[in-house]
Amino acid sequence: MQRRHRAWAEIDLAAFRHNLTLAQNIAGSAKVWPVLKANAYGHGALALARVCEEMDIECVGVGDSAEALALRTHGINLPLLVLGTVIDAELPLLLEHHVEVGVHSEGRAQELGEQAQTLGEILGVHLKVDVGMGRLGVRPEAALRVARAIERHPFLRLRGVMTHFSAPEGCHDPQTAGQHALFLATVSEIRAAGVAIPHVHCANSAALATGLQPLGDAVRPGIALFGILPDSMEMGKRLKPILSLHAQIVFLKDIPTGAPVGYGSRWTSHRPTRLATLPIGYADGIPYRLGAQGRGTVLVRGQRCPVVGAVSMDYCTVDVGHVPDVQLGDTVTFIGKQGQECLRVQDLAEAAGTIPYEITCSLSGRVHRVLTHAQAPSVSSIR
Ligand SMILES: *Cc1c(COP(=O)(O)O)cnc(C)c1O
Repeated sequence: MQRRHRAWAEIDLAAFRHNLTLAQNIAGSAKVWPVLKANAYGHGALALARVCEEMDIECVGVGDSAEALALRTHGINLPLLVLGTVIDAELPLLLEHHVEVGVHSEGRAQELGEQAQTLGEILGVHLKVDVGMGRLGVRPEAALRVARAIERHPFLRLRGVMTHFSAPEGCHDPQTAGQHALFLATVSEIRAAGVAIPHVHCANSAALATGLQPLGDAVRPGIALFGILPDSMEMGKRLKPILSLHAQIVFLKDIPTGAPVGYGSRWTSHRPTRLATLPIGYADGIPYRLGAQGRGTVLVRGQRCPVVGAVSMDYCTVDVGHVPDVQLGDTVTFIGKQGQECLRVQDLAEAAGTIPYEITCSLSGRVHRVLTHAQAPSVSSIR
């Protein structure tokens, strides 16, 4: 079949809606605030933000002001929150577009407040408490002081108190319980001092999936909404992957035994075979290590085929010697289903020695994003 694109990712919006609904069911009374930072982990933030609007989502998390602006420019009016922090130069944009931001220190609160005052706009902020991640966030013992400073500032509004857990396993790691308890105690201390907190939020996908309670007013899943969770988490079995990744064969060549393939001649054929060249490489987001480790697998005509030789910038090569009738233009699947076979983001990540987040985030702009099921079902069938 003639394909329009060299390499493309299909983004299944029906699957995204399904995952959102499932997450909302598990979250109960806590609101789901989808995390769409880093272009929705490479899936394409705009299309997913539109689904969020369609499903009456309350707030969406982004990574920086440019991501917020990109959504605003395309007409997304949802409340947006920069989950981490911003540099001073980003502030005018945030204020103009009414984007909220995390705050991690009293000094930072003062600076943000002054800038907001100068620009004559009120900035909504979420106090970020560090309960063990050790990255951004105020230490718990200083949280009340910073919360008060925010509350007192006429150009800052305390919109929430948040934290972010460090364990990728959520509640399956005992550390999470300790971090959660510390967070809840910090929130109680702030409230007991009479500071109002509209939104308390802490749970990422792993915490939500492993039954963290209480969840607070909102949860911030990212990866789960894309249908990706470790096998150890029950929720993962009920999620649907939203991304599949494909390229088409642009060249087929029969090679003899002993033919070297790719940069550094890292692979040499052990038998006469047939090689397929694919127009997708590390500049598209296929990990270089996939070829280097010799463990990459793709699907061609429903059969598993090994990626052979080093992945190069624009191309990679696959041994298709055992696949009958393989043809130019055949679709090659890196992530997704063909016939009975299925390759998941998790499988690709494992083969490349990395985490699923890095795989999807690395998909570059050269990979066309093709939306499927873009049409929303009638409202009655969503809820
Ligand atoms: C990225 C991020 C999330 C989402 O994490 P997942 O593991 O993808 O669910 C939640 N909160 C914060 C602050 C984040 O930076």
